[in-house]
Amino acid sequence: MESEKSRNGANHFENVPCPFCGILCDDLDIGPSGDGLKVLKNGCVKSVAGFERPLSEPKPQIDGKDVTLDEAVAAAARLINESRLPIFGGLGTDVDGIRAAIALAEKGGGIVDHALSDGQYRNFRVLQSTGWVLTTLTEARNRADLFIVAGSDIHQHHPRFFERIVCNEASMFADDPPKRTVVFLGDQLDQSAVKGKRIGEVLSLPVQPDRIAEILDAMRAMNKGGTVSGDSIGGLPRAAVEDLLARCKAASYGVIIWAPPSLTFPNADLTVQAISEFVKEINLTSRFAGLSLGGHDGATSAGAVCSWQSGFPLRISYASGKPDYDPERYSANRLLAAKEGDLLLWLSSFSSNITEPETDVPTIFLGAPGIKPSRTPKVYIPVGTPGVDHAGTMVRVDNVVSLPLRQLRQSTLPRAADVLEKIEAAL
Ligand code: SF4
Repeated sequence: MESEKSRNGANHFENVPCPFCGILCDDLDIGPSGDGLKVLKNGCVKSVAGFERPLSEPKPQIDGKDVTLDEAVAAAARLINESRLPIFGGLGTDVDGIRAAIALAEKGGGIVDHALSDGQYRNFRVLQSTGWVLTTLTEARNRADLFIVAGSDIHQHHPRFFERIVCNEASMFADDPPKRTVVFLGDQLDQSAVKGKRIGEVLSLPVQPDRIAEILDAMRAMNKGGTVSGDSIGGLPRAAVEDLLARCKAASYGVIIWAPPSLTFPNADLTVQAISEFVKEINLTSRFAGLSLGGHDGATSAGAVCSWQSGFPLRISYASGKPDYDPERYSANRLLAAKEGDLLLWLSSFSSNITEPETDVPTIFLGAPGIKPSRTPKVYIPVGTPGVDHAGTMVRVDNVVSLPLRQLRQSTLPRAADVLEKIEAAL
């Protein structure tokens, strides 16, 4: 239950959900500091950068000149009406923001895509073709005794993941649960947060990320009783691979973790598939699951809302008046590079980590203050950050929990959802 109390006459918020990465930690303490906010407890480098961003409330602009919100909304609507194929991208927002963006795209006859879709599609392709067995953050935190980190710098993406999910001293089922083994399968992955009395062995198996699939496929074959030849498998000594398989077979609850944004080599969806197929195989005799992380800047919320609104994940076209799905053709980057799209509406309300694609088409930029467009947009409309300037809802990266976000400060910045609805009404 969330609580709130007054300290020095100003609000101090406890158990605050953090929207600045996909795992949505919900235990932060945030207090006032001057005009802004201060993370008092359970922060990390990303949450401090997000919550402690200086409060500024710039004016909307057209061609770099200050205008009223109504004027900016009217100009945005005009651009969409004149566009042959508008692209609604970025989509760094909460559930209401995504819903409003989809409604606007439907009425404006445009394309919907998220800035981080390339990473998401490493997963979607596997989910759509062969399926997988995934666990949740809560299950992993409370049940797993073996974690394998596959080619992903989890600590960089989610600075509190290990603290909250792997190194927790108590579990839901025991005050003194057994120690855990953590295996890093990859190249120079940050292990510094894996520490404390809950951690038993930490193994480092140096391997190039694009060879992880070879190792998992070999382990799957070995588990089936097949023969895998050679002293080296995927760049690892054979004995190390056999030892890893033995650990997987002996685990009570093993979890393989990856973050799709880390798997940046060609055809990385095949690595996600190899992970998923190994998990299915080892589940025949032991309990095992995958756990996919990432999901920053509203990516998980965007995929979820798009799926329940249209029946498809991202990369949908409403140009024909009904949702048309094509994950290659309707990539925002591809459409802009091929000059098929002639207008970009870019929405980014959490961080500067997502940036507009290079393009010379007119841009409508909806962004939180501090998130600078990379070139002067035709229309600029500042919006609030969900979970800071206004309340909202986001879907956590494991797709099973939607967390309510809180308004932490008074702000005149509008919700992106409200701005998008105004634009839609003006079409
Ligand atoms: S790990 Fe992610 S959700 Fe947790 S506090 Fe840091 S940025 Fe926020």
